[in-house]
Amino acid sequence: MLATIVSYTMITEDVLELILDMPEIIPYKPWQRALLSYTIDNIPVKRAYSIVEYLSQSDHCQITLSIKLLPGGKWSEYLKTKKIGDTLDIAGIYGHFVLQDTPNPKVFIGTWTGIAPLISMAKTSQAPQKLYFSVSYAKDLFYADKIRKISSLESHIHVSREWVEWCEEWRIDISTTEYPKESEFYICWSPSSVNAFAEILKNKGYTNIYIEKY
Ligand SMILES: Cc1cc2nc3c(=O)[nH]c(=O)nc-3n(C[C@H](O)[C@H](O)[C@H](O)COP(=O)(O)OP(=O)(O)OC[C@H]3O[C@@H](n4cnc5c(N)ncnc54)[C@H](O)[C@@H]3O)c2cc1C
Repeated sequence: MLATIVSYTMITEDVLELILDMPEIIPYKPWQRALLSYTIDNIPVKRAYSIVEYLSQSDHCQITLSIKLLPGGKWSEYLKTKKIGDTLDIAGIYGHFVLQDTPNPKVFIGTWTGIAPLISMAKTSQAPQKLYFSVSYAKDLFYADKIRKISSLESHIHVSREWVEWCEEWRIDISTTEYPKESEFYICWSPSSVNAFAEILKNKGYTNIYIEKY
């Protein structure tokens, strides 16, 4: 399906926020991702992007994606050539990184654009919830306002490499915090950081750990 770019905004120097308009209503759950595709030399290049926000209107819907543009990345370079009014091919909306439908406390941990599915989950969940978000420098921060507006969410926004008055210092450290035993942890970002958080939690005896690696 072809989706039209209706908004194209660099929200930091390397994170692009895209709003795509799709010509029909697509069934969607708040933790899912869009699979985007384009073809180079007859070979489809497909990449998944988590949906930050979904809005359905009478006969069409809009999705918001936040995409960290990597130098030399195929999709990253392709997206740099796009502008409002251009179209992108959406191969589908899928997802198995699932928000459990339970009253258990939720703990969301994300770095950079790993925050995308977690924002969507936190907006949906009615359970007690905490969210940890981290970037390196103040200039890398985005969606702080979106996070702080989510009702009944305890948020911890970390800037790891410089002091920012209203943020927490250093990287996210969950090693000394105790959570209720039945808490569910949702962790999203690079394989190394996801594995490191999951290892700490497993060693502390937590079992409800759900991960998404970008
Ligand atoms: C479920 C899921 C959800 C995701 N959601 C998001 C999201 O919401 N936001 C987001 O930003 N990302 C997300 N991702 C990651 C995303 O799908 C892409 O992997 C990412 O955008 C990079 O794609 P790319 O085509 O730009 O880079 P690629 O072409 O895949 O390259 C990745 C990196 O490798 C380098 N590279 C490529 N080829 C070589 C080579 N031959 N030698 C050395 N280096 C090389 C590139 O320079 C680049 O830095 C998600 C991934 C998954 C699996």
